[in-house]
This record gives sequence, C-alpha cells and structure tokens, in this order.
Amino acid sequence: MNCRNCKSDKIKVFHNKVWSVENGKVYRCSDCELVFIDPMMSENEEREFYKNYNEHVKKRGVIVENSVEEFHEKSKSVANERLKVVNKFFKNKKVLEIGSSTGAFLSLLDDCHTHACELAIDNLEYSKQFINGKAYNSIDEVKENDFEVICMYHVFEHIRNPIGFLNTCKSLLNMNGYIVIEVPHSNDPLITLFDCEEFKNFVFQPMHPMVYNEKSLDYVFDKSGFRKEEVIYYQRYGLDNHLSWFKNKKSGGDAVLKELFSDNNKYKNKLQDIKQTDTIFYIAKVNNV
Ligand SMILES: [Zn+2]
Repeated sequence: MNCRNCKSDKIKVFHNKVWSVENGKVYRCSDCELVFIDPMMSENEEREFYKNYNEHVKKRGVIVENSVEEFHEKSKSVANERLKVVNKFFKNKKVLEIGSSTGAFLSLLDDCHTHACELAIDNLEYSKQFINGKAYNSIDEVKENDFEVICMYHVFEHIRNPIGFLNTCKSLLNMNGYIVIEVPHSNDPLITLFDCEEFKNFVFQPMHPMVYNEKSLDYVFDKSGFRKEEVIYYQRYGLDNHLSWFKNKKSGGDAVLKELFSDNNKYKNKLQDIKQTDTIFYIAKVNNV
C-alpha cells in the first residue's frame, strides 16, 4: 500500500482500530506524515453513511439537538471562540464558507459579504437569515470566481480527494484569495503525549479518511497551487476533558472534573506552545508565481 496523498511506500501501521469499521487500520506516512484510515469508504458507502449521519453521531455518544434552532444556539459559542482565533482574516472580505451549517460563523462577520455552502438543506435554509450573499447546496453550484476568502471548519478531513477539492476551491478564488481551514490534528496530545488507547479507538473514524498535521497539509496545499500563509495551533479541550478520558475512558467529559479544572488556561497554552493541540488552523494563499 502507498500513502494516499504523496504515494510514498514508507507507511507504517499507526493504530489497529477504526471506530465502527471491521478490520480497519490507521496508517502513517513517514514522508508527508499523513495519517489515513484503511479501508476507506467507497463513494456509495459514503452516500449511505451520510444519509444516516445523525444515527452514527448518536452512537458515538454525541447529543443531537432536536431542532435547527437548538443546534444553531449551541454552534454560536463555538463560532465565537473560532472567530477570536482567525478574526484578522475576515475584514471587509467576500467570503464563502463551505460546510456552513446553520450559519453561526457567517452571522458574526458584520462587515463581510457572506455566502454559504451547505449540503444539509434545513441548515442551509436556516442560515439564509444570517447572510447577505448567496446560499448554495453544493460546491458544484457555485459559479462565482472572485471570492477573497474560502473558509471551512472541520470539513476538510471529510474530503476523500483533497487535492482535487482544493483545485476546485482555487477556481472560485480571486488572484489574491486565500483559504482558512480548521481540522482535527494528528498530533493531538491524547495521541502523541498520552497515547490514550480509548481516545484513538474513538477518534479514528470512517468519516475522517485522513487526519492531518502541518507537514501533511503543506503537501496537499503545495500540490494544489497554494502557499502557506500561517499556521495556528489551537487547543479546544481543557485539562478536565483529558483527565476525564483517563478516568472514564470515553468521550463526553465529567461533571466533577469540569467543576475542578475547566478554568485551567495554562494547560491549554502550554500545549499550544509545544504544538501538540487538538485542532490546527491552516491559512494558505493562491500561489501566483
Ligand atoms: Zn505521504
């Protein structure tokens, strides 16, 4: 087998379990450092999987909101936290968010021209009240080619052909356009620092065929005609969440630990300093050279 992105044959088994996939394995490429799962779902399996997406999410112990309104309310605090990290890239821009969900992030961009792209039709409809541009159900419907920023948060790791997808994004951007993405990080401290078996069994999942770090993102962006502008290491979950993995050995947090340790920012900052965080933001510009 070869690396799914750089095609190198220097790959090693990284973990021997994939959530809900019989005989699934996780591999890591020694050259571009991509972490990827095998087998990957076929396009047909993927379509079926996403039809029942909420059922899968519930099985993973994630609470599914009863209404679009409830979901939107919950998404707003995540969007606020996210905007604090990437604020400087969103000043008076023409923006397209891919996987824009209910529009929680776009609703915060007061001085931008905002466009939404979302597969889930009820979320897309709901988001229309928060945007001043167009709402698209699929990236194939977007016919404009002068966006200044394309952003996506926890979307890119779902993409089965990242280089083809980034090329499509490039065709929608103007000459000075850039992409802002946030993805789960393959150097998550629960993996690299703590080697937490239960976390790895949970986090490697068929929905994320590839898990990235800075080097593997460098590879796909470079191959797609982008150049790196900035990388931001960001830790979303705190000490209470990590201790809860050791205590309860499953996702969902722990009320007692939350009470005791949730205000510990020193811990998060330290993880950011050593670049071992649960998410990574990658900002890249169209390469005109
Ligand atoms: Zn590789």
